[in-house]
Amino acid sequence: MNKGSVFIISGPSGSGKDTLLKLLFEKHPEIAFSISSITRDMREGEVEGEKYNFVTREAFETMIANDELLEYNLYVNNYYGTPKAPVIAATEAGRDIIIEVDVNGAANIRKKLPEAVSIFIMPPTFTELERRLTGRGTESKEVIKQRMDSALGEIKRATEYDYIVVNDNIEVAVDHINSVIQGHRLRLQNQKHIINEVLEKC
Ligand code: ADP
Ligand code: 5GP
Repeated sequence: MNKGSVFIISGPSGSGKDTLLKLLFEKHPEIAFSISSITRDMREGEVEGEKYNFVTREAFETMIANDELLEYNLYVNNYYGTPKAPVIAATEAGRDIIIEVDVNGAANIRKKLPEAVSIFIMPPTFTELERRLTGRGTESKEVIKQRMDSALGEIKRATEYDYIVVNDNIEVAVDHINSVIQGHRLRLQNQKHIINEVLEKC
């Protein structure tokens, strides 16, 4: 059995990552998702343990001290981190796993896992990003401004990614993410076991 692959997904807040991933997981429940530990307040509609584990700053700092995180970052005054253990468990079991992180998190994961495949979710325009972020209605005006400021720097770093998926039409964007994942599964490095299996039976 081959190991699963790690897919990193980033994109500015409001670019549509959650929307796209929700649809992707409905179609492909075989793909695992890395649940981040974070210290920001829970938004309305968020469920503990679904996308995030909401932890105190003290608990987060203990995770850092115990080296339990693959990476972590301070984003708009809150900690966000990827626990190591579930990523190792999924890939060892042959499951692909998606890690949603910001651009700094992605850079840190690449250093530790150079074979990880990274995808940047791009909004069609900056104006549309602001419209979506405002339309979502989950943040104050001040936080939206901070996130738009952060978005500019993040988009400039999209060149660090292997793939860019523009989220204009939702269905097309989900299809494009899925194409990257399926294409990666077909690469020689991930198919060697098939060659051996066929050769063993000839
Ligand atoms: P992120 O997870 O990147 O912060 P969300 O998935 O929460 O972004 O999307 C931000 C807002 O934009 C949500 O209200 C969502 O419904 C909307 N949205 C996402 N994708 C599209 C799209 N392709 N066209 C129009 N609105 C979208
Ligand atoms: P939000 O508060 O909108 O849920 O997320 C804010 C930002 O944090 C997004 O860019 C998101 O991709 C990123 N993020 C989510 N989880 C992690 C994580 O575990 N590590 C890092 N570095 N960033 C994360």
